[in-house]
Amino acid sequence: MKEQLELLEKEAIEKIEQTADIKELQSIKVAYLGKKGSLTGVLRGMGKLSKEERPVIGELANSVREAITTAIEQKNEGLEHAALEEKLTDEAIDVTLPGRPVHAGGPHLLTKIVEEIEDLFIGMGFEVREGPEVETDYFNFEALNLPKDHPARDMQDTFYLTNELLLRTHTSPVQARTMQAYEDSKSVKMICPGKVYRRDTDDATHSHQFTQIEGLYVDKHVKMSDLKGILDTFAKKLFGEDREIRLRPSFFPFTEPSVEMDISCKVCNGEGCSVCKGTGWIEILGAGMVHPNVLSMAGYDPKVYSGFAFGMGPERIAMLKYGINDIRQFYTNDIRFLKQFHNA
Ligand SMILES: [Zn+2]
Repeated sequence: MKEQLELLEKEAIEKIEQTADIKELQSIKVAYLGKKGSLTGVLRGMGKLSKEERPVIGELANSVREAITTAIEQKNEGLEHAALEEKLTDEAIDVTLPGRPVHAGGPHLLTKIVEEIEDLFIGMGFEVREGPEVETDYFNFEALNLPKDHPARDMQDTFYLTNELLLRTHTSPVQARTMQAYEDSKSVKMICPGKVYRRDTDDATHSHQFTQIEGLYVDKHVKMSDLKGILDTFAKKLFGEDREIRLRPSFFPFTEPSVEMDISCKVCNGEGCSVCKGTGWIEILGAGMVHPNVLSMAGYDPKVYSGFAFGMGPERIAMLKYGINDIRQFYTNDIRFLKQFHNA
């Protein structure tokens, strides 16, 4: 029995030394020291021993158990340490590697132009207002002097959700809404930037969705000269102090009289070139004095109150300012196009 125990110890220690796996070490432990393990199996034969032999074998068995246990614990510690070392090596950060570049984005060119125009008008005492892109027929057309049978509606065909709900064709509904909101004070000085929609075929100068900024100033004694002064300041701030403006008669259903504003061509300085098509002038926006019907419909007495309104396309302004020749460039999100203007 003594030999059996010594052999068992030798065998177990050898196996423990050879293994390099924590799980295998566990199964060795179970195989030798477990309830059904080899050591227990040997000790079952103790009953056959004489009284003198029993304590000797008992003592030996204990020392065998202790030796195996100690060997397992040491091995286990060694394996855990090795595993940790390996993990640390694998996950080590090489601080000498060059960093991965982080590409910082920037606002879209249209956003920048809109914000620039907003700042300019806020500086002249205007408030920035927003309104819904899904609009009622009433606010989009009727409240702006465009009744159901008005031919000017054809120029602004849009996407209808129902007979009465549509995607707004201009930001003018925000003006009508603001005038109603300010019914008590009757003093409105606002601009409304936002997305608008038309049933248009996309090409270099048309898009079914584009951006608009409209402005409205209604109060007592608002005159055409106020409009001209504001527009002149706007043109000079945005395109340069040396730009001239001119107003040409035009037609809009919601203003009377109506005008188109041109600025003198920056490329040829008014001499005439291909950019201005030989005229020396470039069309920038439409404007006019608010039509008396529009004032009445919003609850303002046209005999007491007057006002002017104007509307422009930030796309067109960006195209002129930066020499962009296709409106679709703004919406196709080609990063090579967009990032040219990050520092513009
Ligand atoms: Zn020119």
